[in-house]
Amino acid sequence: MQCFKHTDVAAVGLCKSCYKAVCKSCAIELEHGLACSEECEIDVDEYNQMNERAKKIYGIGNRKSKIPSTGVILWLLLSSVMWVLFLAPFIMKGKLVYANLALAALFTVIAGIAYYSSKRTGLQC
Ligand SMILES: [Zn+2]
Ligand SMILES: [Zn+2]
Repeated sequence: MQCFKHTDVAAVGLCKSCYKAVCKSCAIELEHGLACSEECEIDVDEYNQMNERAKKIYGIGNRKSKIPSTGVILWLLLSSVMWVLFLAPFIMKGKLVYANLALAALFTVIAGIAYYSSKRTGLQC
C-alpha cells in the first residue's frame, strides 16, 4: 500500500474520514486514528464527538431500563402485603392462613415475571 500523494512512499495507515492511504509525512495523528488533511481532521473530530454523544445517550437509556417498571413495583407491593397478611396471624397466633400464603406466593411469582419481561424489553431498546 502506497501513500495517495507520494506513490513511491509506503503508507502507514488510512485516513479515518476518506480512507485514503497516507505516509508518515502526510498523516495527521489523532486521538482515535489518522487524517490525511486538515479538512479530514475536522471531519474525524466531528465524527468522534458524535460518537461520544451517542455513547452518552446510550448510557442514559441503559440506566433507565434498570429501574423496574411501575407494574413490577405494584406487584411487589401486593405480594409484600399478602406476605404480611399471612405472617402476622402465623407469628401472633400460630395460625396458618393457606389462602393468604397462596396469594402471596402467586403475587411474588407475577412480580418476578413482570420484572423479567421488563428487563427483556429494556434490553431490546
Ligand atoms: Zn482524508
Ligand atoms: Zn505522503
